[in-house]
Amino acid sequence: MDCIFCKIVAGEAPARIVYRDDLLTAFQDVHPAAPVHILIVPNRHIATLNDLTPADESWSGHLLEAARQIAAAQGLTGYRLVLNVGADGGQSVFHLHLHLLGGGRLRSHLGLG
Ligand code: AMP
Repeated sequence: MDCIFCKIVAGEAPARIVYRDDLLTAFQDVHPAAPVHILIVPNRHIATLNDLTPADESWSGHLLEAARQIAAAQGLTGYRLVLNVGADGGQSVFHLHLHLLGGGRLRSHLGLG
């Protein structure tokens, strides 16, 4: 499978990795949209949030806890977590990833446009 995030997790593509555990890897976004822009991805290939099942519930909790710890390690007290789901949700890389954005005052705008 030709998945750039799988390659990053496997160490086969370059990335600035900031966190790794048995389930997740986090690395800096190559086109940052904020002073701190980190992507947190599952180590196994999961295309979108829609591919999770109720059995993944504890994994989802682990993802949020990792995001909280990574934000704290980055010195962020306020930040935004974004999870784009599917093409209509703005997802362009089809390996599930949580965006962690911070390092300034983020605009409150969410939505279309
Ligand atoms: P999304 O639009 O939610 O699928 O976000 C995909 C994100 O992946 C974008 O913010 C891209 O800048 C980022 N991205 C794509 N390729 C890489 C890469 N090789 N290393 C780090 N970030 C990447």
